[in-house]
Amino acid sequence: MLPAHAIGRLGFRRWYERELLLGHGWLIACLICGFAVFALLEDLSHSSAGFGPALVLGAAFAAGWITCYALHRYLQMLLRAQHLAERSTCKRCGAYGRYRLVGATSASMIVCCRNCGNEWTID
Ligand SMILES: [Zn+2]
Repeated sequence: MLPAHAIGRLGFRRWYERELLLGHGWLIACLICGFAVFALLEDLSHSSAGFGPALVLGAAFAAGWITCYALHRYLQMLLRAQHLAERSTCKRCGAYGRYRLVGATSASMIVCCRNCGNEWTID
């Protein structure tokens, strides 16, 4: 599904910038949770018997799940931004990312170059 509404509201360049910033925020969350998993697993080897190790193991599992989810979101956002960036150059005048949204469906966007008025479909 294309982010036509967001691109129509912000313009491609601002949307792309925000997408990269948010994507790298997910990458940072992935790294922090990955470190938390290792720290919790190391703490697990030092903890005593009782309910504590199960709690630490549960927290490590939760941090591991967040790590995987954050990595998935990061790659998803990066690949989507890359996919749209590759199709955002006007073939007539060569302007990059300078278009306005004319129409959109769930699978494609019709855009118009702000420089020369050329229309093309991004899917
Ligand atoms: Zn153009």
